[in-house]
Amino acid sequence: MPGVFTKQTVRDITGEVSGLPVLVRADLNAPLKSEEGRVVVADDARIAASVPTLRLLLEAGAKPIVCSHLGRPKDRDPELSLAPVGARLSELLGVPVKLAPGLVGPEVEAAAQGLNQGEVLLLENSRYEPGETANDPALAEQLGALADYYVNDAFGAAHRAHATTEGVTHHVNRAVAGLLLEREVATLRGIIEAPEHPLVVVLGGAKVSDKVAVIDSFLKVADAILIGGAMAFSFYTAQGHSVGNSLVEEAGVASAAKALEDAQSSGCELVLPTDLMLGREFSAATETRELDGVDVPDGWMGLDIGPATAADYAERVKRAATVFWNGPMGAFELAPFAGGTRTVAQAMADADGVTVVGGGDSAAAIAQFGLTDDVTHLSTGGGAALELVEGKELPGVEALQDV
Ligand code: ADP
Ligand code: MG
Repeated sequence: MPGVFTKQTVRDITGEVSGLPVLVRADLNAPLKSEEGRVVVADDARIAASVPTLRLLLEAGAKPIVCSHLGRPKDRDPELSLAPVGARLSELLGVPVKLAPGLVGPEVEAAAQGLNQGEVLLLENSRYEPGETANDPALAEQLGALADYYVNDAFGAAHRAHATTEGVTHHVNRAVAGLLLEREVATLRGIIEAPEHPLVVVLGGAKVSDKVAVIDSFLKVADAILIGGAMAFSFYTAQGHSVGNSLVEEAGVASAAKALEDAQSSGCELVLPTDLMLGREFSAATETRELDGVDVPDGWMGLDIGPATAADYAERVKRAATVFWNGPMGAFELAPFAGGTRTVAQAMADADGVTVVGGGDSAAAIAQFGLTDDVTHLSTGGGAALELVEGKELPGVEALQDV
């Protein structure tokens, strides 16, 4: 099923990099937490996903110099240092990971020159540099001076044209894709370009406006789009149903109306929930009730799809040859409203078809239910995954060398 990947990859350079520095852009943007007064990694999924490319380079005798952003620091916020990430990366790789004091500059150059085979140099949070998000050419040039070879493995950042993802490619001799980037792009593009049918798309979450382009794109290729989450209430509003105190994105109502109209002339079924789980307020301790129907009474809000809808969606997911899922079916963080998301997640895990989860909160939900290893592909990039299935090109991918 994977689509064709037309960029050179790290496998194309392993024969020529022994003893040489290779600059690797990884996505090490992992959530952190405080433990006994120390900052540690709370979830190492993205760090682990970066390991195969680094291991391949180490086996080839290269000296990896790794850069990544972490969070959105204002100035050089020490809380967002990559130090705890470097410690975890070292454990996962089983080699020393040295932390450089910055992204560029004389101390970084000295650290790069002193790097030995069998070691990794991790550059400090790229967003400590204002030129990173501005894609500053001078910063990109300094970065490019660190190595002749550049590998982009940061799928989660590939939809941004930043100095470490795009600018730097103009200042190295070879710019190629890492194994994770290749797998993500091939899998997600494959869903749009050459899916096995039936292709069932499950869309939820909070905002329609984030996902209008995704709906547009899938109306052209999918067999069914199953809607859940708060997004459903923009559709009900467009249809004239009462929604009580449910979360409705007003700006999304027109988009929902248009999607309903577009669906009629498409070969794709646009499916809305037929029953709901209600609560008095957005809280785990709130009074709850099931509603057989979708007209939400005053004083209540819809916080999850109901059991009949969940069972129907689960059946459709299990019968599909390909499933793409983005956005939870309800407020899954609150135990009384996690049922719909859990039922769909379990169906994904049980399905025989290819199952792909598009990142963000859906990936968090899959992890919360312990089903991470039971889906075909769990994307490490939320925004980048959505842009790919919308049919957009990602600047961080386009900048790499064609095969
Ligand atoms: P993703 O990150 O997977 O793209 P979103 O960020 O769009 O998903 O939406 C996730 C959020 O939507 C979750 O925090 C969840 O609590 C919220 N949500 C889902 N359904 C509802 C609902 N019916 N009412 C209020 N919030 C909801
Ligand atoms: Mg989200």
